[in-house]
Amino acid sequence: MTGRLRHWITEIRRRRAAKACILMYHRVAAEECDPWDLCVSPQRFEDQLRSLARDYRVVALTELLAEHLSQRLSDGTVAITFDDGYADNLQAAAPLLVRNGLPATFFVTSGAIGSQREFWWDRLERCLLVAGQLPDRLQISAAGSEQSWDLGSAKVGFDPSVRGAKPWEADPTTRLGFFYEIWKYLRGLDEVAREQALAAVEQWSGTGHQTRPTHRILSAEEVRELAGLPGMTIGAHSVSHATLSACDASVQRLEIRRSKEDLQHLLGRRVPMFAYPFGDFGPETPGMVREAGFDGACIADPGAVWVDTDPFQLPRVAVLDWDAAEFARQLSRARQ
Ligand SMILES: [Zn+2]
Repeated sequence: MTGRLRHWITEIRRRRAAKACILMYHRVAAEECDPWDLCVSPQRFEDQLRSLARDYRVVALTELLAEHLSQRLSDGTVAITFDDGYADNLQAAAPLLVRNGLPATFFVTSGAIGSQREFWWDRLERCLLVAGQLPDRLQISAAGSEQSWDLGSAKVGFDPSVRGAKPWEADPTTRLGFFYEIWKYLRGLDEVAREQALAAVEQWSGTGHQTRPTHRILSAEEVRELAGLPGMTIGAHSVSHATLSACDASVQRLEIRRSKEDLQHLLGRRVPMFAYPFGDFGPETPGMVREAGFDGACIADPGAVWVDTDPFQLPRVAVLDWDAAEFARQLSRARQ
């Protein structure tokens, strides 16, 4: 059989197969500045939940996985997930989920629990996008080397009311493009070097390092409270939100294993699911997640779960701040 023929047979099987969708949220909040589209407003979230309750069969992620593994997956099944561990997951998302009787899994970055600081990408956003005029040149010494950037026209502030601009599509001479350059640089550093570099950016931008209440991370007590609500479960999302493919094998194993152990210790129950930070993983990573004792893992690539889906590479639909009509359109597109 030729490769092309095999591809078409798989494609026909896929189109006819029963499919389930895993939804990926991050925050339920209304932020003016949201470069990574992490926020769904409380009103829109409630509208989306109502349409899920009406038109789909929403189950816990572990139940979706069990049905998938036993080939009992029924068409139109949906599971809801949240990544990172923002405090608004408990304050804003969970009450709406409970009120609508819908279960959800929250993938929590275990090392960030109770942090008095924001996630590093939020701190960077505050320094470079919320801030107004910035100095001409940024110079950072971290990880034993020095880097510098001339801001040029990016000195002028960013207008967060300009919606739809994506950091990865932005012109590098703009503030958003400059933000993306520094984001990529920080993402490539290890945790210690990143903290050092970020502290330098905070000082340079003059924005300091106060934590915005809106961007707060769940405390240990709040993670327990979330796990105690009906239908809510906690999953692991590494210790430090590491870019796993860039880490040595030993560091990857530690990030995966320790996030599971720490959460299990905190909750006093098994944590069966993992989500790759940034949706990023190397060829060996899914095997490490399996060896660490997880039952399955979510990626961040779009798509539906069907009979051929690897349980350690479960695709997810990233939900944006869509109204009910757009939400329905996107879900039906994902299941094609
Ligand atoms: Zn994440």
